[in-house]
Amino acid sequence: MAFNLFKKGGPGSHGKTGAAGTATAADLHDEKLKFEVIINSIKDGVILVDDQGVIQVCNPAAAAITAWPADEVTKISVQSVMTFVDEKGEALQESQNPFTIVFKNGEHYRDNKASLLNRDKKQLALSLDVTPLLDTDGKVTAAIAVFRDVSQERAEEAQRGDFISTASHEMRTPVAAIEGYLALALNAKVSTIDNRARDYLEKAHSATQHLGQLFQDLLTSAKAEDGRLTSHPGVVEIGSLLEQITNDLRFAAEKKGLFVEFTVGSSNSTLDATGGSAGGGKTVRPLYYTFADGDRLREVITNLFDNAVKYTPEGKITIGLTGDDKVVQYYVRDTGPGIPPEDADHLFQKFYRVDNSATRTIGGTGLGLFICRKIIELYQGRIWVESELGKGSTFYINLPRLTTQQAEKLQAEAAANPQLAPLGDGKGI
Ligand code: ADP
Repeated sequence: MAFNLFKKGGPGSHGKTGAAGTATAADLHDEKLKFEVIINSIKDGVILVDDQGVIQVCNPAAAAITAWPADEVTKISVQSVMTFVDEKGEALQESQNPFTIVFKNGEHYRDNKASLLNRDKKQLALSLDVTPLLDTDGKVTAAIAVFRDVSQERAEEAQRGDFISTASHEMRTPVAAIEGYLALALNAKVSTIDNRARDYLEKAHSATQHLGQLFQDLLTSAKAEDGRLTSHPGVVEIGSLLEQITNDLRFAAEKKGLFVEFTVGSSNSTLDATGGSAGGGKTVRPLYYTFADGDRLREVITNLFDNAVKYTPEGKITIGLTGDDKVVQYYVRDTGPGIPPEDADHLFQKFYRVDNSATRTIGGTGLGLFICRKIIELYQGRIWVESELGKGSTFYINLPRLTTQQAEKLQAEAAANPQLAPLGDGKGI
């Protein structure tokens, strides 16, 4: 019996024997039929494309997802069958097409957030893997795409995100009102209360502040996750931004007896792979420009600084700035308890808190560093921590650096079109 890839059940049929068809015992001893049985049974779309971009194999699930008739889909260009689009439904440029990338780079490509416009003009969310097949010279001779329609999962994720956003937004309002009334009750100018009531109300006030912060962080992290974090990027000079922030924050640290310093131009750390050596003898330019939203960067530094103050019982907090011609690197260093190495990689995940006596007594949500990472990734940057137990921690941020010429050009463009590119740090540079 000839075993046709599309013979039984047809594309999109998901019955017990449906898309997989049936195979006799004899079929399973024939090498070619064995291959067909396997590929026919897979519920993910599988497409084999040759080096001319022509589809050589397409399983029923792939035909169903792309909405192409099974018997038409082979021997035609993959570009006609798989139209990749961005979130807004606009066709991707040729250079962004996953197959183009794989044939160019010869490396495995994975995209969990791909979008495809199928033949019925329906936009689907895809989880996609494209793997190159290489000859002995390392040349790509073919590529295999394995993909799955994840539209439903993505819609459910968006709904969950919406629920968290709406709930935290709605809850912030009454919490702010409670916090306000508690503050009034604690204000000796407007209320008279005895010491015991003051003690209770102070505790209630601090718990309410914590709750308010939790709702605010939940809202921000839900937005960060589904890409709705507002961002108005512009040219930002990190040096002046950091100096300003250090001055604004210094008071909270000094109140706790911590020494605060701001250093520019030297670091005993090296840049990571994106930047080369920081201390490699290159001229350190006095101005460190980047393209980002200054208010968002302020949020990140404030968060790192607040953590440094919160977790450091005594010593010093240093805000530092360095870089080379490609990278701006800045950091917040403290002389606090440090972070165990097994926790360091997880700190930037949602709700992660190191489980030790400090975090058990010091309040927090475990969302701050997650939000910091999401913000820094918006600007193609990287954030990480280096720490030594008992000595302290340094949180580093690398952002792509603009040359002065690039910065001036972008500023001139922003000045000519103020509605298109508002300046991010509000300093008008
Ligand atoms: P939290 O609200 O708990 O501070 P974050 O996301 O800002 O949440 O930080 C996550 C965890 O990382 C904290 O709970 C704490 O355990 C650890 N951490 C963050 N900053 C420091 C620091 N400067 N020193 C020691 N531990 C820190």
